[in-house]
Amino acid sequence: MTKTDQAPLSPGSIIGILGGGQLGRMLSLAAARLGFECHIFDPVWGGPASHVSRFETNASYDNVDAVLSFAKSCDVVTYEFENVPALTAKTAASANPLFPNAQALNVAQDRFTEKSFIRDTAKVPVALFEPVNSVHELKRAVKKLGLPAVLKTRRFGYDGKGQVIIKSEGDIAEAWKAMKDTPAILEQFVTFKREVSVIAARSSTGETAAYPLIENVHKNHILHTSVAPAAEDTGRAQGLAVQIMSALDYVGVMACEFFELHDGALLVNEIAPRVHNSGHWTQDAGCIDQFELHIRAITGWPLGDTTPAHKMEMTNLIGQDVENWSELASEPKTFIHLYGKREVKPARKMGHVNRIID
Ligand code: AMP
Repeated sequence: MTKTDQAPLSPGSIIGILGGGQLGRMLSLAAARLGFECHIFDPVWGGPASHVSRFETNASYDNVDAVLSFAKSCDVVTYEFENVPALTAKTAASANPLFPNAQALNVAQDRFTEKSFIRDTAKVPVALFEPVNSVHELKRAVKKLGLPAVLKTRRFGYDGKGQVIIKSEGDIAEAWKAMKDTPAILEQFVTFKREVSVIAARSSTGETAAYPLIENVHKNHILHTSVAPAAEDTGRAQGLAVQIMSALDYVGVMACEFFELHDGALLVNEIAPRVHNSGHWTQDAGCIDQFELHIRAITGWPLGDTTPAHKMEMTNLIGQDVENWSELASEPKTFIHLYGKREVKPARKMGHVNRIID
């Protein structure tokens, strides 16, 4: 269902969010600012989003009846994670508009489908890649792409999970073993200058918007800091993100992660059909933040101004970092966002801080 011809949703409408983590929480807070109410669907009771949302349904994502009655209780349905099962998405979309659409989910859930779509349909460059379903195919792909190369599971990989670097032919057997026989892709190893991302949005009216380029630094495969606006922003990355959104007939906020090469070329690493950790700095930058931007896009509101008033640095609070909350609270030009997670775990994202740096 598309809402292109329909009027914007009025304040008081109900926004359904599949997933109840920190992204759902921040979406819900932004929605409340505009007078909307949120209904969270999550298998687990009492997660970060439920603390700040009016309604909550706890059921499994494959419980079709529960998904249907949840979707019927809302005016529009969205999600905070890309692994929403296809049947859940289809069920929700049968009752009310689902934004971003099921095709965006389908593309983002599988690295082979994703890279093929970005390269062949959206015509945006990605690193060379080959599908791999056996050790035999892996050997063939290594011959074709050369070494080093990165072997990644097609599905359910994030923060470096489900990924192995192959440096020499001697690593091939071990690398395939690590895939545990799941379908994978082999990707050429990219020697990049830096990793950058773009947060962009397309509304149900076709309007588009994007923030300035973001420079990201990862630690132990997890995002550590994002700085925006990044230096040397040519605007090309934003154009490529919009090209991908148009090819998907996309509605909502999308994140697009790139490798920037030494000659300035940009290769898409992956897209996320949702608000994204590298866009959290927008919350305190003096413009419409990515969460409100998403809510505006899916409700058909004008997207508003995405030009930041400040240069910002976002730092994730991972695991025990969160225990410094009191010191952080006394820092000038610093804004703390905590997710309300009760248990601290080593690699768990517990919150983030946004600092005005210029
Ligand atoms: P991903 O799970 O695909 O986002 O990858 C996690 C991180 O691994 C990226 O942010 C990069 O730092 C690194 N990485 C992934 N793919 C490649 C590649 N083809 N070449 C070099 N580094 C990569």
